[in-house]
Amino acid sequence: MSEYQLHIGGRYQAAESGLRAPSLNPANGEVLATVQQAGESDVLRALEAAQCAFNGWKQVLPSQREAVFLKAADVVDERAQELRDLLIDESGSTLIKAGYEVHHAAAFLRGMAGECRRVTGETYSSDYAGVKSYSIRRPLGVVVAISPFNFPLLLGLRKIGWAMAAGNSVVLKPSEETPVVGLKIAEIFQQAGLPDGVLNVIPGRASDMGDALLADPRVKKITFTGSSEVGKMIAAKAAANLKKFTLELGGKNPLVILEDADLDYAVNTATFSNFMHQGQICMTGSRVIVEAGLYDEFCRRVAAKVAALKTGSPREPGVVIGPLIRPTQPAFIQEQVESAVDDGARLLTGGKYEGSYYLPTVLADVTENMSIFRTECFGPVMSIIKADDYLHALTLANDSDYGLSSAVLTNDLQKALHCSESLETGMVHINGPTVRDEAVVPFGGVKDSGFGREGGRFAMEEFTELKWVTIQTGQQQYPF
Ligand code: NAP
Repeated sequence: MSEYQLHIGGRYQAAESGLRAPSLNPANGEVLATVQQAGESDVLRALEAAQCAFNGWKQVLPSQREAVFLKAADVVDERAQELRDLLIDESGSTLIKAGYEVHHAAAFLRGMAGECRRVTGETYSSDYAGVKSYSIRRPLGVVVAISPFNFPLLLGLRKIGWAMAAGNSVVLKPSEETPVVGLKIAEIFQQAGLPDGVLNVIPGRASDMGDALLADPRVKKITFTGSSEVGKMIAAKAAANLKKFTLELGGKNPLVILEDADLDYAVNTATFSNFMHQGQICMTGSRVIVEAGLYDEFCRRVAAKVAALKTGSPREPGVVIGPLIRPTQPAFIQEQVESAVDDGARLLTGGKYEGSYYLPTVLADVTENMSIFRTECFGPVMSIIKADDYLHALTLANDSDYGLSSAVLTNDLQKALHCSESLETGMVHINGPTVRDEAVVPFGGVKDSGFGREGGRFAMEEFTELKWVTIQTGQQQYPF
């Protein structure tokens, strides 16, 4: 077992707070490592390091910035086995999920490398005689990034990478549950030649960090991925201090299966959308809305498939359902499932837990009045909802405070097009799963699911300030 310090100014440094916390393996509760925790003075040190580094980093040539990201992707490939092992041990990832995350982490870094050269502006036609009018984009300064536990490597990189590609420096607060993965991100970039202080990683609890993390004048932007509840609080604090913010929040995502869909494909798509990483994904398609004609047969086939999913140690090949991150999570999920059954839902499979392992669960006949229809469980529970017809399916899909991802299975082109426009989500996938992510796309949600977009040029716009510039040729004539 090892002890980790904070990563500030390009090196590991002891936390001044004197605080320490264990990082636990969710599969067995064993202590994986002890991690020093940042307190208020540590936050100030990290912000100072980031502020100092910003002045140099913003002037680094795009090709040199690009080289750092390409090298970081190579480092991820070289350290892939170590990273997969850590994702399994610290975040309860199965072999399948850990492999997916590490592979995508390298792909995202290469996507970010490509954007380093694409910080662009525009020219405008001016109505002032002799004026050249255009815009440029400039980095913001110090960005505070706060990341969740579920994809700590991939989402940690997404939080910091676009910001740094655009020329900002960053202070990352990783999730309390996955601090070591957060620190590995700092190591990866250090190995890739990132100048000291451009990225600082400070594990710890927000409650120990004081106001500085969100309110210090050096912080120009806050980028947060996590629950809608915490996101709203962060938005309020950012607004009170007139800071920019981007929020990637929770979801209760609809997967709509229309009558003409291929049934086996629908079963496979619903299973993947619900049970990847034990359902602990913001894009999990936990509301499966099925048109009446397919409903009974879909319920029968999906229940059989889900009942056969292997639950167990995430290190075991073939296991799909590993442990949930927090020991308190299974009891919360159980409450939701029992309440749905009390309200008339049918439990087709699962509905039980042992320790941190919640069995993959399917509920049928879920309706809008049940808590589970609206509450993000963040666990392996699929709710199936019967729709009378196409328009009813659409109404049910949009009946949510959330609006992150959605998917529709149909071969009817007209309905597919109509859905892509009518579903109130930031992302719509036709004939694919609700869980889909790529580097250079406008990733993000509407309603309570988020604010702003992350990915490609959309992220570069979020992390830069647009500046209008004019150049007067000749002299302007004034009225007095
Ligand atoms: P969470 O409890 O909201 O925590 C997210 C991060 O916020 C953690 O680093 C957490 O630190 C920090 N935090 C909590 N309270 C804070 C405060 N008062 N001030 C500053 N930071 C604070 O979420 P989670 O349980 O880790 O992740 C699950 C949630 O994230 C789900 O709702 C999921 O849908 C959402 N999510 C969204 C996306 C997306 O892209 N839209 C992606 C992944 C996950 P501590 O751990 O120290 O509390």
